[in-house]
Amino acid sequence: MHTQISPPTERTVRRAAKLLQAGELVAFPTETVYGLGANALDARAVGRIFSAKNRPADNPLIVHVASPVAAEELCHVTNDARRLMEAFWPGPLTLLLQKKPVIPEITNAGLSSVAVRMPDHPVALRLLEACGLPVAAPSANRSGRPSPTTARHVLDDLRGLIPLILDGGACKVGLESTVLDMTGETPAILRPGGVTPEMLASVLPGVRVAETAMRPLLDGETAKSPGMRHAHYSPKGRLTLVEGEPDAVEAACKRLYREAEADGKKACLLVAQERLPAYAGYDTHTLGSLRAPETIAQTLFAALREMDETGVEIILCEAVETSGIGLAVMNRLRRAANFHIIRA
Ligand code: AMP
Ligand code: MG
Repeated sequence: MHTQISPPTERTVRRAAKLLQAGELVAFPTETVYGLGANALDARAVGRIFSAKNRPADNPLIVHVASPVAAEELCHVTNDARRLMEAFWPGPLTLLLQKKPVIPEITNAGLSSVAVRMPDHPVALRLLEACGLPVAAPSANRSGRPSPTTARHVLDDLRGLIPLILDGGACKVGLESTVLDMTGETPAILRPGGVTPEMLASVLPGVRVAETAMRPLLDGETAKSPGMRHAHYSPKGRLTLVEGEPDAVEAACKRLYREAEADGKKACLLVAQERLPAYAGYDTHTLGSLRAPETIAQTLFAALREMDETGVEIILCEAVETSGIGLAVMNRLRRAANFHIIRA
């Protein structure tokens, strides 16, 4: 199959909508990362997402909708959920709600809940309106790889597997949406993202971060969010995350870098702009600024892909503060490192 990559003109968006209506796949930009979309109500179309991504069948998809009203057709929207939609939709907040029977099992992996979100991106919204369907769309990468934040990343992973990629430039947030479970007694963040715990608490004071969001599952432990079981965001090189006191972190990073070099391995440090002077003479890749943590979120996945392209074998990264968007950054880094964390 030839994969076309096109700017999102009115004509191409209409073509994309027709493809979705015909049960085909389309990759499209959202404010979080690029999505790989299919008609969420068509089991066969959704099956194509799992094949193209090589995604485990037990990992449910997020259904994208054009409005809060469209969500009501898919799930039972509680009053609290409605307040969150008013406050944060369109935006990077996915809500888990009790599903209605229209959702085919393959879309939500046979669970009793379904994940819904209204994306904050003009192209995604135009596409949703043009096709008139709820669109199931996980990140448009091969499973396990870092999520795509440009159309080029999608092409690198899915060339020949899908007919069309709408190129809307680089994604604004750069990390996947916050996943908030609204089916339990208290709302729980299963995956931190662009809508931070602080922002959610301003609307629903009871919100908590699920204990499993930031650590590996224990033996025999089940996650509320099946996605947390699977390896994620991983570059090909070995990523080590170094956490702790700043001076100790720097010393540990330098030591690990020199050990890699002595081993004949190609090493690189992922560091924020402000930290570059500390690593003069080391091979580094800049991640954005600590003073504007959203820039670190924006550049993280592209940086991990860059490490692969340049054949870096040992990737070292300093931990960042977990306040605000920093919690989502650290969640992705810990998982990308496969929880290989050094506490300096
Ligand atoms: P992705 O589509 O790759 O951004 O991943 C979606 C995330 O939401 C994964 O971590 C899924 O496990 C999670 N998710 C989606 N639907 C549900 C659901 N019904 N129950 C629990 N977790 C879900
Ligand atoms: Mg994904």
